[in-house]
Parts: sequence; structure tokens; C-alpha cells
Amino acid sequence: MKDYDIIIIGGGPIGIACGLEAQKKGMSYIIIEKGCIVNSLYNYPLNMQFFSSSEKLEIDNIPFISIEAKPKRNEALEYYRRIVTSNQLQIQLFEKVTSIDKNNGQFLVNTTKDNYKTDNIIVATGFYDIPNTMDVPGEDLEKVSHYYKDPHYYSNQKVAVIGASNSSVDAALECYRKGADVTMIVRGPEIGERVKYWVRPDIVNRISEGSIKAYYNSNVKEITEEEIHIATPEGTISIENDYVLALTGYMPNFNFLEKLGIHLSNDHKKLPNYNPKTMETNVSGIYLAGVICGGMETHKWFIENSRIHAPMIIDHIENKIREQKTT
Ligand code: FAD
Repeated sequence: MKDYDIIIIGGGPIGIACGLEAQKKGMSYIIIEKGCIVNSLYNYPLNMQFFSSSEKLEIDNIPFISIEAKPKRNEALEYYRRIVTSNQLQIQLFEKVTSIDKNNGQFLVNTTKDNYKTDNIIVATGFYDIPNTMDVPGEDLEKVSHYYKDPHYYSNQKVAVIGASNSSVDAALECYRKGADVTMIVRGPEIGERVKYWVRPDIVNRISEGSIKAYYNSNVKEITEEEIHIATPEGTISIENDYVLALTGYMPNFNFLEKLGIHLSNDHKKLPNYNPKTMETNVSGIYLAGVICGGMETHKWFIENSRIHAPMIIDHIENKIREQKTT
């Protein structure tokens, strides 16, 4: 069985940053990724534009050159893919980590393709794989999606967009501009405060002129093949509907963390337990990196502020290995 100093689970921007750092320090490592390189970014909407400017998304100070100040999804795919290929990072794609056991002080990492031994694990699995559900009747209908890709599909269709965050606003505007009849259903009293500052006036104006309809302080009650039923402050209403984009956010795989023995806070935030100076969890040898650190508070960590996790973790592991050699 192959034996590594470090196994990194997840080949997103932060998993890649960890691999790069481990490689620089001469450690043996692999990144195991269940999809393609930067799988989450690959699955983002085709026309998505980051809220961060490109230099804030850089890892290891490798320049990220983009046409506009805020890069698009395609440019980010190019950037992170080139980092992987030009540095010949050890990344294994389309291989999912299924479980981890402990044996004689080492971790045994089991995947869909192989088994590996390691002394240290970095969990950098992000939060984009599990959507927050609305738990209403009809949510499992084929016309309901928790992911949005491309507006062309929705042209000439009656589309309900649930939510008022960046993802919902981008989807609503794009679909409207490709000829969809768009209705937003918003739980709060207004469009989200964290919506990109250059996009917010656009959506607010489209709603006030009536081009896009919006129900505030409202919740979906039920979805049927031809309608959507909405609880509004004025009572329940029903509107005709072809497609529902339920962009209600995502959550980390808490089950996976708990199976590893990582403690989560008892409140709704489900914050994983880790030392903020080293990123090591309550399980010695298991570290967390990237957006997974925020638990249910998925807006707290992003590439911009979590890329520093890579040097923090690798420095800690390097010191640990050095100490083991001298004792
Ligand atoms: P991810 O990129 O999610 O990577 C996790 C990886 O782990 C995935 O590739 C996944 O396939 C893999 N994985 C999961 N489970 C397993 C398993 N069991 N085995 C193997 N592999 C596994 N951040 C910014 O800084 N600026 C922005 O402008 C910005 N815009 C955003 C816009 C949108 C629409 C979204 C959703 C997020 C945005 N973010 C932004 C957040 C940022 O994209 C994420 O924070 C970033 O992807 C986090 O990187 P990560 O490496 O922590 O996680």
C-alpha cells in the first residue's frame, strides 16, 4: 500500500494550494479529487464572474491575469489548471474518498479506486456538493434544480428563482435577458446585502420596473408540475411555473466530518473543531482547509481569505516531522 506524508482530500483551489506547498517542502503527498480539477468551479454557472479581483484568488503568489478586474469562471479554470499542470502536482482525479480508518497510529484512506496510508490528512472538500433543501412537497420534481448553469435553456419559460443571494440574482438577471418570465421568491424583506455591488442596482431596478417579479417575506409552500404555491404576507398565492431554480445555498458534508471523529458545535452553525493557528482538528493529524471550516456559515470563508490555510498547515506538519526525527 502506498504511504504518504500527507493526503489532501479535494482538488479545489485550496486543496491545490496545500499540494503546491507540500511539494515545495519536499513532502510526499497526493491530492485526491472526486471530479475534475477544481470540480466546484467547473460546476459553477457558465457565465459566472467572481466577486474577488483576480490577485485575491492567486495561490502562492502565482500571477492570475484576467481581462477584467474580476475574473470569470473560465479564466479561473485556466488559472488553477495551469498551476496543476505546470507544477506537475500529484493529483488523482475522479477518485472519491469514501472512508478513513486508523491503524497503528497511521490513517488508512479508502477511495473508490485504491487504499493509501498516511500520517496526515487535509480535508479540503468545500461545501458545493450538498444543497440546502426547502423540504416542501414537489421539490423532487425534475423541473426543480439546486444548481444553475446556463440561461438559454430557460428562454420563453416561466422560471421561479428561490433566494436573493449572488447565485439567485445572477440566475434571475441572465434568464430574464434570455427571454424567460422570471419570478423571485425571497425569504427576507429585500435582495441580499452581500450581492455584488455592481450587480445589485441592476436587479433592484429590474424588479421595481416590473421586468422581474419578486415576492418578499415569502416562502415556497408546494411545487406541482404546472404551478408553484407561495406563502406571502398577503396570503398563499399560486403562479404558473415551468422551472424552479432553488438557489438556497449549500452545506459541507457534516456526515463525513463526524465519521472522521471531528467535533461540530451543537448549535445551528455546526462549526467544526480546529485550532485556528494550525488548522489541526480535535483529531490529531487531521487538518481542515478552505471553505469547509465555516460549517453552515458558508459565506465566512472563501478563496480570498482561506488560501493562507495552505502554508499554515504545511508549516505545522513540517515542524512535526522535524521534531519526530530529532526525538
Ligand atoms: P472547493 O472548491 O469546493 O473544492 C472542494 C473539492 O473537494 C471539490 O472539487 C470536490 O469535488 C472535492 N471533494 C468533495 N468531497 C470529496 C471526496 N469525498 N473525495 C474527493 N474529493 C472530494 N470565493 C472567492 O474568494 N471569491 C469569489 O468571488 C467567489 N465567488 C463564488 C461564487 C459562487 C457561485 C460560489 C458558489 C462560491 C464562490 N466563492 C468565491 C467561494 C469559492 O469558490 C469557494 O470558496 C472555493 O471553491 C473554495 O475552495 P475550496 O478548495 O475550499 O473548496
